[in-house]
Amino acid sequence: MFTINENYLQLNESYLFSAIAKKINEFTLLHPDADIIRLGIGDVTLPLVPSVIDALHKATDEMAKKETFRGYGPEQGYEFLREKIAEIDFQQRGVSVSADEIFVSDGSKSDTGNILDILGEQNSVALADPVYPVYQDTNMMRLGVDDRLILLSCTAENDFLPQLPDEKIDVIYLCYPDNPTGTVMTKPQLKQWVDYALKHRSLILFDAAYEAFVTEDDIPRSIFEIEGADRCAIEFRSFSKNAGFTGLRCSYTVVPKALKTIASDGREVSLHKLWNRRQSTKFNGVPYIVQRAAEAVYSPEGQQQTREMVEYYMQNARIIREGLLSKGWAVFGGINSPYLWFKCPGTNDSWQFFDRLLNECHIVGTPGIGFGANGEGYFRLTAFNSLDKTREALERIKNW
Ligand code: PLP
Repeated sequence: MFTINENYLQLNESYLFSAIAKKINEFTLLHPDADIIRLGIGDVTLPLVPSVIDALHKATDEMAKKETFRGYGPEQGYEFLREKIAEIDFQQRGVSVSADEIFVSDGSKSDTGNILDILGEQNSVALADPVYPVYQDTNMMRLGVDDRLILLSCTAENDFLPQLPDEKIDVIYLCYPDNPTGTVMTKPQLKQWVDYALKHRSLILFDAAYEAFVTEDDIPRSIFEIEGADRCAIEFRSFSKNAGFTGLRCSYTVVPKALKTIASDGREVSLHKLWNRRQSTKFNGVPYIVQRAAEAVYSPEGQQQTREMVEYYMQNARIIREGLLSKGWAVFGGINSPYLWFKCPGTNDSWQFFDRLLNECHIVGTPGIGFGANGEGYFRLTAFNSLDKTREALERIKNW
């Protein structure tokens, strides 16, 4: 009889969003006319911008002609896109990342999980609690419940930012701006982690999926703004939230050439080479049409149009933040992030608050407990609904 990877049996049932859907269904059956506003989703709602749509049409037409048809592309991504990413996301901001350090992919969700393929199983791994659940689940798929997985406690007392561990940890996930708490690290705070990693020869896996939402000057958009990070960090970026590609699928991962470690036989090994080997073996690239669409994000019009899209969501974030603060609630995030995280008023049970908000205001959010034990008593709202719905939701909360 064949066997299975029994670590999967140890995973928490991924019941958060199905439990939310079930509760909404039950509520709708009882109150069919209620106008429910959903501020729980982490998915975008605005359509793709015109430059991206034009590029998709043009690339589709190319695929229809013998002379311009494209089959398999380079596993690492087309040069036209990698060059633009290196120039506009990094070099123009004074950060030294070259095109051949960029690996174009179909999503940061895949890459943050797949990166474990090139890392040893003996590593101790640290994650924040609360956290984007993919980091924890993908590690547990390899290890099961294991004490090599260490949770860094994030609470209101430390402004939902993890403290440097006392012990030596091999691999550390950092996500800033953070999902779910919306918090960010300043340059000096991030530098402490880079210094820690260089000192202990640790690897930082930096998820910058929400980089485009940074509004304040002293908040780094890339870990490579910190000196020495190219020797200790890998960065994940996505077109999902800055350009609305959640359905189109495109992202990239930066693996610097300077990032090296020592194998058990004493050899120095480049992680760039390993990731290149991994991707060329297990991945056949992102569709040509989609990479042309991603390239269009970097045209002057594409930059302008996607910036407007992000500003639209950030206007919602401001409305939510100001509304919650006006109630006297303790609020995190929403300044450099589309996520708002707040202490549930009057209860330490985030599901209980979910029920009250749904029943009394007809608003859906996400209970903090879904992101880890430290999320209990907290709640997440997102800025991805429309301006009108967001305004309406906050009016209801203000009058609650
Ligand atoms: N990383 C974080 C922190 C996220 O919140 C998300 C999506 O919500 C992702 C990665 C997934 O990005 P992608 O759509 O590129 O797979």
